[in-house]
Amino acid sequence: MNSPEQDSLARNALEYVPVPAFEDNYIWLVSDSRDAVVVDPGDAAPVEACLAERGWRLTAILLTHHHNDHVGGVKDLLDRRKAECGIPVYGPAGERIEHLTQRLSGGDLVRIAQPALEFSVIDVPGHTAGHIAYFQARDPRGIPHLFCGDTLFASGCGRLFEGTPEQMLRSLDALAALPDDTQVHCAHEYTMSNIRFARACEPDNAALARWNADAQALRDAGKPTLPTTIGHEKAVNPFLRAGEPAIQATLAAQFGQRARTALDSFRMMRGWKDKFR
Ligand code: ZN
Ligand code: FE
Repeated sequence: MNSPEQDSLARNALEYVPVPAFEDNYIWLVSDSRDAVVVDPGDAAPVEACLAERGWRLTAILLTHHHNDHVGGVKDLLDRRKAECGIPVYGPAGERIEHLTQRLSGGDLVRIAQPALEFSVIDVPGHTAGHIAYFQARDPRGIPHLFCGDTLFASGCGRLFEGTPEQMLRSLDALAALPDDTQVHCAHEYTMSNIRFARACEPDNAALARWNADAQALRDAGKPTLPTTIGHEKAVNPFLRAGEPAIQATLAAQFGQRARTALDSFRMMRGWKDKFR
């Protein structure tokens, strides 16, 4: 038996669990070991399985953008909880998403009682026009967390389906300005293919070479490469390093023209990555 102090300590700690879905999505659950919120449930079944296995109660749904692999499970999750009615569904004010109860945009605060969570909302247009991210400034251990959907990936960034390179670079700059120890909970396991592209951009980056080996070992062991951190991404992610001379030199050789600004080189890199195999 735990003492009441141990019980309350255990309740104060939060767990961040990546639930694999589809080919390569992660649906993140955050729980205090009793109640849980879910971020971007593209599919209800793996979320229900995880909740049932751990005995957690779902109290809120948070959405980053309108793509079906992030919102497709919302209806089923709500339908199964009709009796409890009133599970809030948070999401971007600027996108058409069914079942939203709380429409958010940059600067808004999200306060959830159970589990006790507070997020500030960051506008991160680029992948989609109204994409938002959720930033938790400190968990009970003092560690910051970010849920960024398809904006920032480990060693990569989202494709520009609706936004411009300018918007995406500004969005990534805003995320890069968060504390270095921020745990970044991305929505896809794209890390190994992103690293292949990152190494083409920056072949002499020693941190990237080490990360390639570490990430491969995680994948070989069947584990996620996430969460990553902002500090780590600033060291290895070419899309956060667009102004680096080594990257600009690679791009000059690749395209036969010099990038004059970080935005030029971001635009060239994003276009190259779209076709990179
Ligand atoms: Zn998406
Ligand atoms: Fe996605």
